[in-house]
Amino acid sequence: MKEDFYDILGISKGASAAEIKKAYRKMALKYHPDKNPDDKEAEEKFKKAAEAYEVLSDPDKKARYDQFGHQAFEGGGGFGGGGMNMDDIFSQFGDIFGGAFGGGGGGFGGFGGGGRRVVKGSNLRIRVKLSLEDVANGVEKKIKVKRKVQADGVTYKTCATCNGQGQVARVTNTILGRMQTATACPTCHGAGQSIDKRPYGADDQGLIAKEETVSVKIPAGVVDGMQLKVNGKGNAAPGNGISGDLLVAIQEEDHQTLKREGDNLHYDLYVSLPDAVLGSSMEIDTVSGKVRIKIEPGVQSGKILRLRGKGIPSINGYGKGDLLVHVNVWTPKTLNKKQKDFFEDMRTDEHFQPKPESSDKSFFEKVKDMFS
Ligand SMILES: [Zn+2]
Repeated sequence: MKEDFYDILGISKGASAAEIKKAYRKMALKYHPDKNPDDKEAEEKFKKAAEAYEVLSDPDKKARYDQFGHQAFEGGGGFGGGGMNMDDIFSQFGDIFGGAFGGGGGGFGGFGGGGRRVVKGSNLRIRVKLSLEDVANGVEKKIKVKRKVQADGVTYKTCATCNGQGQVARVTNTILGRMQTATACPTCHGAGQSIDKRPYGADDQGLIAKEETVSVKIPAGVVDGMQLKVNGKGNAAPGNGISGDLLVAIQEEDHQTLKREGDNLHYDLYVSLPDAVLGSSMEIDTVSGKVRIKIEPGVQSGKILRLRGKGIPSINGYGKGDLLVHVNVWTPKTLNKKQKDFFEDMRTDEHFQPKPESSDKSFFEKVKDMFS
């Protein structure tokens, strides 16, 4: 059973043409795909409202619908049963929003086209600094944003300069004769509406700057320079326009001990000579706190210990990077007499002679391995 067209628009059967138009405009703005990205439910409501308006705005169709209900449009003739596609809906906008909203910044992305645009507020840009831990684990940031909103008590009227068209015709004399061009209305800047009642402190669009706290969910794995978009948290538009977006640029802060390379992390571990010879266990930093790792006796300088999954999660959801621990054996620079004598004795000792095994790969081989 199809939903009643009057119910869809939330109006009574006796609604006037102006009331029907007003109700549809309200619904269209509320459920517009640009305001509700990836929201199937809103899109459905948006389509239903468009379908209802298509019929109720046409006196002929409305009379048939009032008399026969949905049956009036079934079995060929008039309105196909399959609903409307997005292009049909946007061609309606020429009628309902046309003059009042033509021109102006923004517009409905993806659907473009003349007479289908709504004035959109400007975007706001902010930069947010993230620690490596925030990047690794994801974080919700509460950000203070100064955005323009419609001032309390502001009202708008149809712009008198352009008569709500948003554009004015300009006639210029050229050698080819008189040329007429359309330019954005200088009074309303294309909005088609001008301010009627302007509260104290509001600008000439009836907007006022207000500090607002916006919560931004930042997923794990973001990269320096990446930009996230928060829909509708930019500056408001005058009249019935829609707000711009808040663009959040990611800035990564350097970590004291961990270096990021893609989704992998690198850590330089310094091991004393006795620890390297005798083996030990040592604490290292990770993005989720300190962990203790085992150093095998006889570890070589330049060895890379790979801690799987201790890196940064992939932003695309493909697993996690690793933490690569680079072993640096620390050679003492000063020795006392006893220590000096010990090492002198060891100069010729068989155990101190370098005997690289195949597992002790050269540095270049190791680097090659890492990237393959
Ligand atoms: Zn104007």
